[in-house]
Amino acid sequence: MTTTAAPAVEGLIIDGTRTGASDGGVLDVYDPSTGEVLARIARATKADVDRAVQAARAAMDSKGWGGIAPAERGRIMYRMAQKIRDRAEELSTLESRDNGKPLRQARTDVQVSARYFEFFAGIADKIMGHTIPLGPGLLDFTVREPIGVSAQIVPWNYPIQIGSRGVAPALAAGCAVVMKPSSEAPMTALRLGEIGLECGLPPGALNIVPGTGSEAGVALASHRDINQLTFTGSVDVGVAVAKMAAENVVPVVMELGGKSPNIVFADADLDLATQGVSTAIFQNAGQTCSAGSRLLVERKAHDALVERLATRAKTMKIGPGVSDPDMGPIISQRQLETIESYVKVGQQEGARVVAGGKRPTDPKLPGGNYYQPTLLDGVTRGMRVAQEEIFGPVLAIIPFDELEEAAAIANDSIYGLVAGVWTRDINKALSLALRIKSGQVYVNTYGAGGGVELPFGGYKKSGYGREKSLESLASYTQIKNVCIKYA
Ligand code: NAD
Repeated sequence: MTTTAAPAVEGLIIDGTRTGASDGGVLDVYDPSTGEVLARIARATKADVDRAVQAARAAMDSKGWGGIAPAERGRIMYRMAQKIRDRAEELSTLESRDNGKPLRQARTDVQVSARYFEFFAGIADKIMGHTIPLGPGLLDFTVREPIGVSAQIVPWNYPIQIGSRGVAPALAAGCAVVMKPSSEAPMTALRLGEIGLECGLPPGALNIVPGTGSEAGVALASHRDINQLTFTGSVDVGVAVAKMAAENVVPVVMELGGKSPNIVFADADLDLATQGVSTAIFQNAGQTCSAGSRLLVERKAHDALVERLATRAKTMKIGPGVSDPDMGPIISQRQLETIESYVKVGQQEGARVVAGGKRPTDPKLPGGNYYQPTLLDGVTRGMRVAQEEIFGPVLAIIPFDELEEAAAIANDSIYGLVAGVWTRDINKALSLALRIKSGQVYVNTYGAGGGVELPFGGYKKSGYGREKSLESLASYTQIKNVCIKYA
């Protein structure tokens, strides 16, 4: 008889050391491509989160981090960027197994993660204040100081990318970080913590405490000694987290959900639009906050575009992430069931499935959580499938006749994260770009290679605060004004 040894338990990263959970608790991490256990890791408790926050506080007060020259912070971060690139293949494979995403997507995510550290490394020694002219006898200046201990709660859909998106500007600003990755895909966050230590981050500057939302998440969000919180996840949890932070007057960056429209006019390059619309919804199996999950198409182009999209959807290869298919599995059985129920709701509301709409039947697929790329046609703006975030590979297709109507449908949403406009007419493009209520608008493209340099964040229930770009530094710094009277 052969027995397979259970994987060793990986520790949390607190104060520069790998450590088990205070109660010895363990999380099994599943590979969504196969349903098998990928890893076993320590499950952080309230006490562990408390230790991590204390370690971060001590780092802030130490010479090694709080007292370090800004240029040196930048050098450490450049080394982190390089190390992420050196370990890219290992990190990409791990991300692909942990989350299920196709290997090439995981490779992109890892490169974007490196780019975050590189981009923010460059600003570490350029975070400047102002002098304010008050006239003779007074000198007034401002100093941008690190806000302090930054708590970061990260979802499972782009773990290394979203983790780096928050950690890099926080470190560049001189903050110390406690990051709680999702229990569903925590592996690359632990690698990031490891890389930080290898590259010279002092103990406590970056602590990683994977655990459940109900224990580690609540402990972190409600901790009295954090100074700032960046939350990326669903609206309901975001609201709960913001309330907890408010008890301690802790400012929050909220990166929440979306129901982003791609608006295609009949004059658009339809080949380009097909590719853009399809990638915007099927990338990461639709489990993307900024997924283009509504297609608003000018009625004249409806049949031609839907036919192209259906052809594409029907020929997409589905499989385990590491086999680098066009689309990997859904993160969990529960999420798969949610997607299925939404497609049923859509049909009951009168929408038609023109591609997909069920689990694939390929017997060669391992026992993961697979779903076909799905197009729901004949959707109207009031339907639940047009309003609610499905977080799966399901595109709701809504025809329109006039630009005014397209603008109204696009804005008829509780969300406002991203929008795409596809047209050759600059007047239509600009008119919509300025009228759509969302944090980003793309014209004849959707996304810009990770968009590290571009401000990203929501209008309405998609959240508030901005991540990515130099704008994000506002969340990790606070301004002190110094006013001096002299003779
Ligand atoms: P989620 O809200 O369930 O979980 C997000 C994180 O919060 C996880 O780490 C989870 O453990 C933690 N959490 C859960 N309950 C908590 C609690 N009570 N207190 C504190 N923390 C708690 O979201 P998810 O399922 O991981 O991710 C999907 C959602 O995230 C979608 O709605 C998606 O649109 C959104 N999202 C937004 C962005 C963005 O940048 N705007 C990016 C990715 C995902």
